[in-house]
Amino acid sequence: MKLDPTVMRTMNRQDYRVLSAVESGMKNHSLVPLPLINTIANLRHGGTNKIISSLLRDKLLSHDQSCGYNGYRLTNSGYDILALHDLKCRGIISGIGDKIGTGKESDVYIAITPRNTQIVLKFHRLGRTSFRDVKKKRDYFMVNALSKNKKSGTQFRTLPNSWLFLSRTSALKEYAFMKALYDVGYPTPKPIGQSRHIVAMGLVRGVPLYQLHSNRVSAEQAQSIFEQSAVLAGRLAQHGLVHCDLNEFNLMVDLSGIQGKIASAGGGAGGDELTVEGEERNTNWEDDATEHYVRHSGMPVKHKGALSAHGPLQKHSIDGTGEVVTEKPPEPTELLDNGEPKPIVTLIDFPQMISTRHPNAKELYERDVVCLKRFFGGKLRCFVEGDDEAKLSGIMPTWEELIAESGGGNDVEFPGDGPDDVTLVSKAQYRLDEELKASGYSKEDAARDSELAYYEAHQQLNRELDVVYDDDEDEEEDSENKESENEDDEEVEGEHEQHSVKEDRVDEAISGKDD
Ligand code: ADP
Ligand code: MG
Repeated sequence: MKLDPTVMRTMNRQDYRVLSAVESGMKNHSLVPLPLINTIANLRHGGTNKIISSLLRDKLLSHDQSCGYNGYRLTNSGYDILALHDLKCRGIISGIGDKIGTGKESDVYIAITPRNTQIVLKFHRLGRTSFRDVKKKRDYFMVNALSKNKKSGTQFRTLPNSWLFLSRTSALKEYAFMKALYDVGYPTPKPIGQSRHIVAMGLVRGVPLYQLHSNRVSAEQAQSIFEQSAVLAGRLAQHGLVHCDLNEFNLMVDLSGIQGKIASAGGGAGGDELTVEGEERNTNWEDDATEHYVRHSGMPVKHKGALSAHGPLQKHSIDGTGEVVTEKPPEPTELLDNGEPKPIVTLIDFPQMISTRHPNAKELYERDVVCLKRFFGGKLRCFVEGDDEAKLSGIMPTWEELIAESGGGNDVEFPGDGPDDVTLVSKAQYRLDEELKASGYSKEDAARDSELAYYEAHQQLNRELDVVYDDDEDEEEDSENKESENEDDEEVEGEHEQHSVKEDRVDEAISGKDD
């Protein structure tokens, strides 16, 4: 999906008003009639028709008469622009840069804050897999999932609208989980804000785990990454959560081991260059450091200061005498026994997380364990075949062990009446699934019961599709291997195509007239 925020340069307040009037109308209408748009937008000097024409021209709205009247709905681009505009008005972003990642259900972009710090915007795009990429055989699952829902009495006549709002639900959920985990010191990206289907978060140092290969990582580093990943899965379960997609695509690894202000790794202890919305923004050297030391996805962001793929380079400044002073880059936080920096592992991608009380929690936790085991045993060669079970049992707690550790699982009690009453130590035991139930996120959920039912169906669909994808990939890989044996091993894998940040240009596109 192509994102073109340049259209925002010429948009004014009335344009946004009409656009969001259509959005409001879509809550009850698959296609919003013109009189309703007029009423909601309530423009003082009229002119809704003219504005609608220009929004249609920019493909922010689409027009349909199939319902027997002139109906309008937001396009995906229209929804993007509304969310970007909102983030801009709230002072979270001032510009958007290149795409740095594409997941099955998201597009991930670099953005820039008004303080020139680079952050990440994740656009949730539910339904994309099902509507754009799915081959014939996958349609079967789609129909299946829909009919299952029809049986349970949920009607989805306004399908295209649902995808937009379900993407929003997914973003809300991801933001709520990320924030709750970040607040208890779990290594996640720093949650910065959320608008509609977009989550704004801190840029994580390093590369997704799947980009690491055994010949580029020492055995000690691989072992450390494996141990940390196992601990992360265990810690999640102690908080009452199962990730459900814990694999090499959703673990970011920083081999330079610098627990700086850019990553929130290590419990976010050092990562405060960005503030969560509503907090005061601080102004320390780290903003500057981000500019010089930031790198992403293994591809350096070309910037004024040089950058390396696996560690920050030095920063130069000119002192009072005109001499060039080379400042030392940050040091790794911890070293391994062999003297290498201890890699830092950060977990991303939370919308599909479930409570450990979910009826399938055990099964899904065990699936996560199997995924990790497959990657570490296979690609990173952490253990030789046959040895893996023994090694795993020492490192990766079983479901039963986790439940026992957290004081009896489902009946676990926590001190105090809520998150404010618990100490840091007891917070580590705090059930986030419980906490999230009481959060704003859950209230939103209640109002969208049918959407959630559909969301669940969608998750189920994706799990089924995953199996199909896996099968496909194996076939495709075989034939590709025959064709091109010498290709770079950092090539695209499966649905998780990675896009390099090609240049440092951050398009200052978001500069509408209505500041
Ligand atoms: P999806 O839910 O679609 O799988 P992810 O959250 O896993 O989306 O993001 C897709 C890719 O985007 C990741 O593999 C990673 O490369 C990149 N990415 C996502 N969030 C961040 C972040 N905070 N910092 C750096 N890269 C990120
Ligand atoms: Mg992912």
